[in-house]
Amino acid sequence: MSEDPVIVAGAGPTGMVAALGLRARGVPVEVYEAEPEDRERPGSRAIFVHGATLRTLDTIHPGLGYDLAEEGMIWPTRRTLFRGEEVFSRTYENDRSAGAGLPPFTSLPQVWTEDVLLDTLEEVGIDVTWDTPVERVETRADGVTVGTGDGETREASYVVGADGAGSTVRKEIGADFTGDQSANSFIIADVEEVSDDPRPPERVFHYDDPDLGGRNLLIVPFQGGWRVDVQCKPDDDPERIASDEVIAEYTARALGERYRDRVEWVSTYQFKQVNAEAYTGEHDRVLLAGEAAHLFAPFGARGMNSGIADADAVASAIAGALAADVDAVARAEIAECAERRQRAGEWNKDAAAQALEYLQGESLVTKAKKRLAAAAADYYEPAGEWLDDAPYGPHGSPPVSIGQY
Ligand SMILES: Cc1cc2nc3c(=O)[nH]c(=O)nc-3n(C[C@H](O)[C@H](O)[C@H](O)COP(=O)(O)OP(=O)(O)OC[C@H]3O[C@@H](n4cnc5c(N)ncnc54)[C@H](O)[C@@H]3O)c2cc1C
Repeated sequence: MSEDPVIVAGAGPTGMVAALGLRARGVPVEVYEAEPEDRERPGSRAIFVHGATLRTLDTIHPGLGYDLAEEGMIWPTRRTLFRGEEVFSRTYENDRSAGAGLPPFTSLPQVWTEDVLLDTLEEVGIDVTWDTPVERVETRADGVTVGTGDGETREASYVVGADGAGSTVRKEIGADFTGDQSANSFIIADVEEVSDDPRPPERVFHYDDPDLGGRNLLIVPFQGGWRVDVQCKPDDDPERIASDEVIAEYTARALGERYRDRVEWVSTYQFKQVNAEAYTGEHDRVLLAGEAAHLFAPFGARGMNSGIADADAVASAIAGALAADVDAVARAEIAECAERRQRAGEWNKDAAAQALEYLQGESLVTKAKKRLAAAAADYYEPAGEWLDDAPYGPHGSPPVSIGQY
């Protein structure tokens, strides 16, 4: 087995989980992060952590899934309105008693998740080398030479490229992104919670909200606040809607007057929908993971969640490759992981595209289906359930088997 460590580029959620996954499998690992330790990462971003992600975390570090679930909150109610009229509402039991197992999801700001992961890294003795970007990656059949921003050259057995959307590692292995971006713009605002607010913690989707000029509105609670997500119309000026005055007005209409001055962060997006054409490069010594490998629109919460699934898969493949006595077996471990996760990326991209197409769908058929479902919802519950569900794309995770079957 190589004496050299695995080098992980990037200490976002994907890189930190990859490092924990490698450590859990007994593999020496070093993490290099371009930004300084005292960085501030704005916005709540990946607030929705799927149950499958909690289970993955709890496997690689027992207790971690529960710690994260504890930090977050679970909104028990999903509700959908269509042009001012409620068309669906359902409330779930939320058993948080001891022994109830991991919850189906938890909702908290991404930076809190990152804090929990960083604490766990410290606990198991993995240091992050901050302020030290990976700049150069040269692969050979028997290892990787990595050049870092401090002018040093380091040897690694394998490299995990978890260095986010602008990934240097992806560029170094020559893997391009393919895909496109959403047609419409979205405005996303984080709103600080009002502690004595009687408003129930419910996720609400409002089609053609008359209070917002007929725009779609999504409201999602998370620990400490609310996300207000407004879908612009094709001829909207997103900067105008994101201005302090307009977003404060929209927030007051969406959540109530007490929230008018509680907008903490606002941003406009046209979502990229892209996947790297390959997740490994020559010699099968590098694996891409997370946003270094793919970017999806956030409907369905596939971003960080799939990054964490990538991270666990690359840790497993690298551990398998390092344990192999036969080079061809080691290469196959990496190549198969790269192919499996690349296909998963494609599946997730298509799933997010389905959600986007549904949300942006200007076709008469899509519009008519929504109107008919809204009209039927009062006496036919599945119609309302369909309206409630459709904005997030298909359920489930990507089929990950490869080969002939
Ligand atoms: C508005 C919004 C809402 C979202 N909502 C959700 C959601 O509900 N659920 C969900 O799952 N996802 C969501 N996402 C996506 C989620 O935020 C990202 O998928 C997640 O941050 C990706 O994690 P990552 O570790 O792959 O990349 P990043 O978080 O970008 O981390 C990459 C790290 O690499 C570092 N780096 C960059 N270059 C180098 C280099 N050369 N060398 C070393 N380090 C480097 C960066 O500084 C950074 O720390 C959302 C995103 C947005 C914008």
